[in-house]
Amino acid sequence: MSWDRVERLIGTENLTRLAQSRVGIVGLGSGGGFVAQSLAMSGVGQFVLVDDDVVEATNIVRHVAGLPYLGQPKVSAVRDLILQRNPHAQVESYHGRIEAQPELLDNLDVLVVGVDSERVKFQINDLARQKHLTAIYAGVYERGEGGDVVIIHPHQDSPCYACWAGNLREGVQISVNEQHRLDYGMIGESGTLEAEPGLWLHVVRVATTQADLTINYLLRNTPQHIHLPANTVILANRFLEIMEGTLTPPYSAMWVQIERDPSCLVCGLEGSRLNLKDQSEEPSILSMDDLLERSNLHHDLEDE
Ligand SMILES: [Zn+2]
Repeated sequence: MSWDRVERLIGTENLTRLAQSRVGIVGLGSGGGFVAQSLAMSGVGQFVLVDDDVVEATNIVRHVAGLPYLGQPKVSAVRDLILQRNPHAQVESYHGRIEAQPELLDNLDVLVVGVDSERVKFQINDLARQKHLTAIYAGVYERGEGGDVVIIHPHQDSPCYACWAGNLREGVQISVNEQHRLDYGMIGESGTLEAEPGLWLHVVRVATTQADLTINYLLRNTPQHIHLPANTVILANRFLEIMEGTLTPPYSAMWVQIERDPSCLVCGLEGSRLNLKDQSEEPSILSMDDLLERSNLHHDLEDE
């Protein structure tokens, strides 16, 4: 095993920096599992993995863990895959929900959010804010026709995930062609899994971007760091109407800056008042429905 080529590319200091970086990954489905494996193959040396699922037969075609891992928790499978690429990696894994063990997010350099559920993303947003943790979220649109990746910083200049979701879904029109009504992971009209192979590629394109932005964040303040034009990248896998009236061509991407919402229920002035008021009664759970309603989510993000 040799890291020579990665070392030549990014330098000895940066390789050491990645080896000492501690990355949390919550959600190890097709996207999160791929990000974990890719980060290990890029030199990241410390992982905290959180997922409550097991590898099932229906996952096999679109998961980095194949048949040998059938029935095993995804955290164990992905831990194994990381160690196959980097036997020196330190991997802490937890089979369960992040809400049950929020202290797992302590002392991380960055958090990769691989869950599909918007509700869980909102809960993670609360935890990341409490722990002053930068989090990188990814979403894949229905039928894998596109997706987005956003970096959310815990400071005042950045939107929180709740602001971001509200703004992006209101301000940016996302619609896909209605030619095929095949849902992600569903069996098609002809009774085959015809969409599956394409979907793996499409999920992975978004996940690759999420992993790459994670490395880029870990290499901040070095010459290898790329200054990003905005906080959100929208990837088109097919012709995608990102901005109303304009079709973005396949395999291209558009950067969009989503601003903080001063009236956000989580991080705005109103939010800090709510948090103060509800501190004794689990504010994050109480406000979840309000938040989802407020964010105008159209459920066009898939729920795997
Ligand atoms: Zn906010």
